Amino acid sequence: MTRTNPSPISDKTSAEMHWSRWGDPAHAGPLAESAHTLVDTFIGTSDTPAVDPADVRLSAPLAPELLAELEAIVGSGHVLTDHESRLLRTRGKSTPDLLRLRAGDGSDSPDAVVRPSTHDEVVALIDWAVRRHVAVVPFGGGTSVVGGLAAKRDGYAGVISLDLQRFDKLVEVDRTSMTAVLEPGLRGPAAEALLAAEGLTLGHFPQSFQYASIGGFAVTRSSGQSSAGYGRFDSLVVGLKVATPQGTLELGNSPANAAGPDLREVIMGSEGAFGVVTAVRVRVRPLPEVRTYEAWRWGSFTEGAAAMRTLAQAGVMPTVLRLSDENETAINLAKPSEVGGESAGGCLMITGYEGTPAAVEAKRLAVTAILGGLGGENQGADSGQAWSDGRFHGPYLRDSLLDVGVLVETMETVTFWSNLDHVYTSVKDALVGALGEATLVLCHISHVYETGASLYFTVATKASDEPLPQWLAAKAAASDAMVHNGASITHHHAVGQDHKPWLAEEIGPVGVQILRAVKAELDPTGVLNPGVLIP
Ligand SMILES: Cc1cc2nc3c(=O)[nH]c(=O)nc-3n(C[C@H](O)[C@H](O)[C@H](O)COP(=O)(O)OP(=O)(O)OC[C@H]3O[C@@H](n4cnc5c(N)ncnc54)[C@H](O)[C@@H]3O)c2cc1C
Repeated sequence: MTRTNPSPISDKTSAEMHWSRWGDPAHAGPLAESAHTLVDTFIGTSDTPAVDPADVRLSAPLAPELLAELEAIVGSGHVLTDHESRLLRTRGKSTPDLLRLRAGDGSDSPDAVVRPSTHDEVVALIDWAVRRHVAVVPFGGGTSVVGGLAAKRDGYAGVISLDLQRFDKLVEVDRTSMTAVLEPGLRGPAAEALLAAEGLTLGHFPQSFQYASIGGFAVTRSSGQSSAGYGRFDSLVVGLKVATPQGTLELGNSPANAAGPDLREVIMGSEGAFGVVTAVRVRVRPLPEVRTYEAWRWGSFTEGAAAMRTLAQAGVMPTVLRLSDENETAINLAKPSEVGGESAGGCLMITGYEGTPAAVEAKRLAVTAILGGLGGENQGADSGQAWSDGRFHGPYLRDSLLDVGVLVETMETVTFWSNLDHVYTSVKDALVGALGEATLVLCHISHVYETGASLYFTVATKASDEPLPQWLAAKAAASDAMVHNGASITHHHAVGQDHKPWLAEEIGPVGVQILRAVKAELDPTGVLNPGVLIP
C-alpha cells in the first residue's frame, strides 16, 4: 500500500545543540524502561553523570589586542569569548569528544568564536590568521565524529572557531539546469525549507541532518539515508567557492568536463585543511509529491545483502534502502522508540520511494517483484513508517546510555560485495576481542552501490573506570580490521584526526605525499585546521 508522507522533517529543534550530548537539549532524557531493562540484563548499568557545564575547564580567551583586530573585520557583536559560546564549539559529537567534555576537559576549546557573513570577511580572517599565526577551525554544524573540530594548538598564538552560521542563504536557483547555490552555514532543515519554497529538494538526509551544515556535508563527503535515490553529497555538488590563504578558488563551471583532474574532489573531503567553503552549487530535484516507506524481513543478513546487491546491479534502486543485521533487528534499533521491545526476528530491511505518484508506484512494483522473488517477506508500510518517524531519534539513545555507564559508539566502513561478509565478521570479532564477550555489536547496510556497500556498526559495552582508553583501543582494533582486510577507513564520516593513521595505510606513501603537497601549497603556514586529514 502506498502512503503519502510529504515531509520527513517534522521535528522542530533548538538552535544550539546540548553542550555534552547529541542534539536538542529538550530531547535529552533517561533511557526508556524497556531499553534500560535490556542493557541492565546484558551489560549492567551504573550512574555516570556529566560535570556541570560551568565546571568544564576551557582554554584562555584570545589576547585583547587580537580580539580587537577580529572585531575590526567582522564587527564587535560577532567575536565571542564567553564560556557558553566557546563550550558549544569545543570538539564535535563523537563518544570520545563527549567523554572528555562530560569529565570536565574542554582543553580543545577555541579561544574565540568569530562569525563572518561574507566571503570577503572570510578572506580577511584567513589573511589575519596567517599574519598572527592563529589556527582557524571552520565550524559548520559541529557534528563531526572524527575529531575534525579540535585543532592542534601547539606552536600557534591561539585557536579561533570560524563559525559559518551567518552564511544562511539560498543565493540562486537555476531551474533550467536544476542547480541551486546554497551558503555553507545552512543546516539541513533550513536548506530543505528554502528549497521546498521553490518546489525543490536536495534529498540529503543523513542521521545528523537536523544540525549538520551544507559546507560540512561537502568537506566531509557525507552520505544520507536517501543516498540510493539521490546519491552521496559529493555527487550532488556541482560547484564550490573556497577562500584559501593563497586566494579564492572557484570551481564547477560546467556539468562535466575533461579539463584535467577534477579539483572539486580536492576540496570535497578537505575538512577545512585547504580552505573555507563559502558557497556550494548543488544539483536539486523536484520536491517529491509522495514519500512512502516499507519494511521487509529476511531470514539472514547474508540473504538480505544479496537482495540489495541484486537491486543495485539490476539498476532498480528505491530512494532508501537499508538492512539491519540479526542483532540490530533483535533490539529494534531501526525503530528507536521500540528498543528492547518485541522483535519478529530475522533481518529488517527498509525500502523507501520518493517522487511523483506514478514514478513511486512503478519503482515500488519493480522492487517488490525482485525482493519477493528472492524470498523477502513484505511487512507493509507501518514498520517502514515507524522507521521514518524515528529516523533522527536514534542518536539520543547513546547519551542516555553514557549516563548509566554504558559505552556506546558507532563506526562505518565500505568495501566490495565480494569482501563484505569477511569485513563484517572481522570487524565484529575485533570489537568483541577488544571489549569482551558482554559487548553488543549491531550492524546495518545503508549505502549500496553496484560494486559494494557500506557497513555501519553500533557498539555497546560496560564502560570501565577509564572509558576513553577502553574505546580508543577497541576503535584501533576495529580500524585495523577494516583496513588490513581491504576495506576503507571511512565511507562517510571522513578522516579528521581520528582516522589519520589508517588513511596513511589506505592511500600509501605516494597518496600521503600528494595530500601534503596540496596542503603546503595552499596553506604554507599551516593555520587551517591543523591536525586534521594530513597524515
Ligand atoms: C549523531 C550523528 C549522526 C551522523 N550521521 C551521519 C550520516 O548519516 N551521514 C554522514 O555522512 N555523516 C553523519 N554524521 C557525521 C557528520 O554529521 C558529518 O560529517 C557532517 O557532514 C558534518 O557536517 P557539519 O556541518 O556538522 O560539520 P562540522 O562538524 O562543523 O565540521 C566537520 C569538518 O568540516 C570542516 N568544515 C565545516 N564547514 C566547513 C566549511 N564551510 N569550509 C571548510 N571546512 C568546513 C570542519 O572544520 C571540520 O573539520 C553523523 C554525526 C552524528 C553526531
